[in-house]
Amino acid sequence: MGEIHGIAAVADTGEALVVTSRKLRSVKRLRNKKFKEIYQKRSRCKKGSRKWKKYTCAIARIGSKTDNQQRDILHKMSHKFVAWANDQGVKTTVVGDVEGVQRNTSRRNKKNLKQKRHSRGLNQKMSQWPFGLLLAYLTYKLAALGIDLIKIDESYTTQTCPVCGRKKKPSGRMYQCHCGYTCHRDVHGARNIYAKHKYGEIRALDWSIENIKYLRPAS
Ligand SMILES: [Zn+2]
Repeated sequence: MGEIHGIAAVADTGEALVVTSRKLRSVKRLRNKKFKEIYQKRSRCKKGSRKWKKYTCAIARIGSKTDNQQRDILHKMSHKFVAWANDQGVKTTVVGDVEGVQRNTSRRNKKNLKQKRHSRGLNQKMSQWPFGLLLAYLTYKLAALGIDLIKIDESYTTQTCPVCGRKKKPSGRMYQCHCGYTCHRDVHGARNIYAKHKYGEIRALDWSIENIKYLRPAS
């Protein structure tokens, strides 16, 4: 699971899958924009006034609408993955535990303390990519098909070269290492998670990726 690519997965059949999360990001971006506008308007009103109440209702309405949109996208994303895993004959899935991973939210309006305090809760709410929800959907959808799900610590799986062990942050579409190892960025991390689970360490695998399938949640 990742913020950029939603779900990236490999199977030891040599198949890889990427379920993009662009749609999720656009929903979130739009919501953040609307929230920001309304919060700003509300901050100029007297607390408890009619206008203040109106804006408070609008915030709740946008929140529940976008929550539903988000849940719908996450259901579709998890469904795509589970159907693919089932097609691959997968019996066990391993997922990198991203608990606690959060986007940097240090950019904050520092105009005044009151506003800062108001926006803090909002920032936290918006910054969290819904990994927990996606994981919950994956868990029960996989369980329904009798597929196990194991969570492992995914530290360094995106950065580490499985061949020489060097660490670097991937940039661009490919993960490329000085030693000559190169892998599609989306599936590089997934392969390392596989290795970490199977061998207890990040190492080269004796099979390669033959095919990467890209799916959108709604496709
Ligand atoms: Zn290397």
